[in-house]
Formats: sequence, C-alpha cells, structure tokens
Amino acid sequence: SRNKFIASVEAVAERRLLRPDPDLDNALANSRKKNLPNISISPMQGQHLSVLCQLNGAKSVLEIGTLGGYSTIWFVKAGARVTSIEVRPKHRDVALENLHSAGLDAEIILGAALDVLPKLGAEKRQFDLVFIDADWGDQWEYFDWAVKLTRKGGCIYIDNVVQEMIYGGASAAENSLVARLGKDDRVTASLTPTISAHKAPGGDAFIDGFVLATVL
Ligand code: SAM
Repeated sequence: SRNKFIASVEAVAERRLLRPDPDLDNALANSRKKNLPNISISPMQGQHLSVLCQLNGAKSVLEIGTLGGYSTIWFVKAGARVTSIEVRPKHRDVALENLHSAGLDAEIILGAALDVLPKLGAEKRQFDLVFIDADWGDQWEYFDWAVKLTRKGGCIYIDNVVQEMIYGGASAAENSLVARLGKDDRVTASLTPTISAHKAPGGDAFIDGFVLATVL
C-alpha cells in the first residue's frame, strides 16, 4: 500500500542517513514515559533542521513550542544556542530533564508565545533561525514576531503549514498564513509539502508541509 511504501522510504532514509544518537533516542523514550503527546518532529526533519543551521551558520535559534526538547536537542547539537518557548510547565520540565541527561543546555522560557515574544523584542534579541512549532491558530502572529527577531539573511521555518491550510478553515481566506506571506516584502517564502507515515501507525499517511522563508 501507499502507506507501507512511505513508511519504508522513511525507514530506509533513517537507517542510511542518520547517525546513532542515544541522547535523541533517550529524549523520545523519556517523553513517551512521561506521557507527552507524540508530536515532535521526525528524526529526518531534525537532521534537515540541522543541515539548515549549518547552511545558515546559525549560532542562535529561537524555537516556539518546546514539548520534550527533541527538536531543541537537534539544534543544540547543530552548534546553536537555543531559546525555546513552552506554555506547559510539565513539557518544560521534561525538556529540561532530557537536555540535562544529554549534558546539554538551552534557555527554556515558560509562557505563552504571544506573551514572551514581545519581551524578546523589547530586549532587541536577534536570532539566526526561528523555528515555529506550537499551536496553529496564531501562526501568523508568531511569524510576524519571528521576522522582527531574525537578523537579515536569517531564516524562519514554520512547521505544519499545510495542516493549518486544511484544518484551519482558512485555505481560501485572504488572511491565511500563506496568502499573507506572499504579500509580505520582508521575506521570500517557500512552501514544501511533506508526506510521512511516522505519526500514522496503521492510519493514513500524514500530509503536511513547512514554510521556509528568508528575511530580507
Ligand atoms: N518542537 C517540538 C519538537 O519537535 O520536539 C514539538 C513541539 S509540539 C508540536 C508543540 C508545543 O507547543 C507543545 O508542547 C505545546 O504545549 C506548546 N504550545 C502550544 N501553544 C503554545 C503557546 N501559545 N505558547 C507556547 N507554547 C505553546
């Protein structure tokens, strides 16, 4: 079946391209043990973000949506200092646990992104890469802050954009995220559709996509 095929492509890619990393495995296992939802990025997506950091020479990354710190660990291992925003104390605690058992460090800020982002703006913080991976409803507002917080030539990666287009009910609307991005002359934005069997054991393949934008 199509799902089986996608799953096997992913499995082969993971087996062939990923280096074994007990810290990342442990972060996922501990997050599962602590009953966090299984909604972190896939291992190959982590490696993709790591490649982006290398291309961009990213030394500072801002992440919106920490969960158990799985993507945080990928960024730290790619050589970046990471500031990550998480609204749920339990998720923040598990993320800190996972980072510390890997001997790694990151700045995890507890709070709702729309409360924290203006504070980072007031402090004139600047990042090389911003990764938006929280709730879908406020993606435009997160993006707008991300532009202000990204240095020129830096990039913004927004995950689950196609999910937002499909389920956000905004696909045709003039104010959907993608419609607004096209009119925003602060950035050049691309959209890459993705298909994954990862989050769909036995279910339908998961169709989604991400926006990658550079800040002009
Ligand atoms: N980036 C993580 C990874 O790949 O390992 C996954 C993040 S998960 C998809 C989304 C996270 O965003 C959840 O932990 C959720 O609690 C958090 N979140 C949801 N709404 C938020 C908000 N308004 N501000 C900050 N975090 C939020």
